[in-house]
Amino acid sequence: MSELQYRLPQTRALVTELPGPRSQALTARRKAAVAAGVGSSVPVYAADADGGVVVDVDGNSLVDLGAGIAVTSVGASNPAVAQAVAEQAAHFTHTCFMVTPYESYVRVAEELAALTPGDHEKRSVLFNSGAEAVENAVKVARLATGRDAVVAFDHAYHGRTNLTMALTAKSMPYKAHFGPFAPEIYRMPMSYPFRDEAGLTGEQAARRVISQIEKQLGADSVAAIIIEPIQGEGGFIVPARGFLPTLVGWAREHGVVFIADEVQTGFARTGAWFASEDEGIVPDIVTMAKGIAGGMPLAAITGRAELLDAVHPGGLGGTYGGNPVACAAALAAIDTMREFDLPARARHIGDVALGRLRALAADLDVIGDVRGRGAMLAMEFVKAGGTEPDPDITKAIAARALEQGVILLTCGTYGNVIRLLPPLVIGDELLGDALDVVEATIRTLAGSTRG
Ligand SMILES: *Cc1c(COP(=O)(O)O)cnc(C)c1O
Repeated sequence: MSELQYRLPQTRALVTELPGPRSQALTARRKAAVAAGVGSSVPVYAADADGGVVVDVDGNSLVDLGAGIAVTSVGASNPAVAQAVAEQAAHFTHTCFMVTPYESYVRVAEELAALTPGDHEKRSVLFNSGAEAVENAVKVARLATGRDAVVAFDHAYHGRTNLTMALTAKSMPYKAHFGPFAPEIYRMPMSYPFRDEAGLTGEQAARRVISQIEKQLGADSVAAIIIEPIQGEGGFIVPARGFLPTLVGWAREHGVVFIADEVQTGFARTGAWFASEDEGIVPDIVTMAKGIAGGMPLAAITGRAELLDAVHPGGLGGTYGGNPVACAAALAAIDTMREFDLPARARHIGDVALGRLRALAADLDVIGDVRGRGAMLAMEFVKAGGTEPDPDITKAIAARALEQGVILLTCGTYGNVIRLLPPLVIGDELLGDALDVVEATIRTLAGSTRG
């Protein structure tokens, strides 16, 4: 494994209060020009970013525990990605793969066939966003099966387009008043160990879903089951072991396409190339985006050849899908993940951070649950000692962490989850410093302690 190198100093350093004067001026300009419906987690504006730091327009160096929502796993200015982008842009930025194709698209598809779970024949299509990948996975599943119904889950997040809003569970802010939504979407109970009745196994949770599908829909009207192997925006919910394999087994038996939405969990984030590998499940179609291309907009679906090749020529595509600059970035990002063994880095981050978070949870009764895998970790906050969600302390923790120079994201159906998604290239010292801040902040705000 090669040594990681950084362009910017990997330290947390504040030179103004946050947000500083330049960020405040940009916020004022933004209000007059950018629609209010677009939010930002932190009110500081980026000027530079590298490794585990984001430098803002006032010169503050912040530790990045969000990676732009699990995107910049190889860093936000990875040198191999930056060089690949510059070289490709100097030749051609676009021809449209549907007009004049190019090799890098084919190479990305070859890489995806090799990296995604299963050794069956596979085909891929490239797109621009995770939502677009999900939409197309559903299109393929419906055409290939000749069925309409799509099963999604409580707490699911699949995007913000019309079909993916329908698949997404949470109303506010993703769906409220944006309907009517796409039809033939059926929501089933997720396996959520922290909130399920005690002792419910993954297999039992899956049987509960299967029974509802069979009673309410009938297996032979279901085109697809779509699920995030670890749910992202819904709260980093890790289903009980056995849940996913049982669903996959049932889907296979009934000709239902099993779609793993690995947009957030994919590309080394959870310590494997894909989260599906943890229990050895082989999805029929995998959707990918976020971490795939070092920050460039690229998304993909990879699936069984007989499903993807069932679609008539011209049935899938898009003007920008598989843009050559984004493909060059993806190939460089994938090479980097291999060269620096980023799946192992993700496992290491998990080992370091999970131990600390669990110790903290043992001390503090406002942390109801600590969960996650690799560099996709979360704490669920509750009213002391119970299970009632506490979104207020969660927001306060993220705000206080930011004041001290740590970018920390929240998530969850109840808004009560702090999630850690650092770039996988973050150094141990910087990660340790950020965890010190997170831990001290939580201890300060928690007030009451256990025992
Ligand atoms: C982010 C996300 C999406 C949507 O991706 P966009 O690129 O924002 O459209 C879909 N599914 C999952 C699991 C995600 O985390």
